[in-house]
Amino acid sequence: MSTIQISGILIVGLLIGAALAVLFTVRAVKWFLRFLAARAVSGILQVGERQLGRVVGVGEKHLDKALEAGGKEIAKGVASLAEDARKNDPKRLESEVARLAQENQGVLTVAKVMADLQLPQFKSQEILARLVRSRVCKMDQGPLGSRYLFEAFLATTQQFRCPFCENTFTVCPENRICTNCGGNISAEVVQVLQSSS
Ligand SMILES: [Zn+2]
Repeated sequence: MSTIQISGILIVGLLIGAALAVLFTVRAVKWFLRFLAARAVSGILQVGERQLGRVVGVGEKHLDKALEAGGKEIAKGVASLAEDARKNDPKRLESEVARLAQENQGVLTVAKVMADLQLPQFKSQEILARLVRSRVCKMDQGPLGSRYLFEAFLATTQQFRCPFCENTFTVCPENRICTNCGGNISAEVVQVLQSSS
């Protein structure tokens, strides 16, 4: 074999080797890329699964909370219905009005009952009318219109009246001697309505 032939064979061999190397490299790169892609996809899927699990879990928690809240709302509704029934109980309202009358020295108006007990006008009038019928109070024309007087709670002021000259004193005169006519004074308790009502 001549050197030309030998070098020809070597060149061909090198070319084939290079071609094979290229092919192999391309395959290796492809395989590696595929491997990376597969890992990425499975990673994404795992994350997705986890996320989904989290969403479902959160959803359940929310549902539980919503149901719990709903139950509480229903319980609240029932309680408020019971409260309304209790508030509208006539006997209870009568005692509420009496308590209010006591706080106001025995003088009430429809407006006062409406405002303090948060009742509509017809309801306030109804209760006061019932208390008038049962003689707990009586209706009267005051300086500012109709008012209801609860005698048991009317403010009382002690006054000292001279039985001879009819003079009155808020403080008992010395030795119970009337400073006007010199007569002997007996102590009398006189009920005085508060002028503010
Ligand atoms: Zn007198």
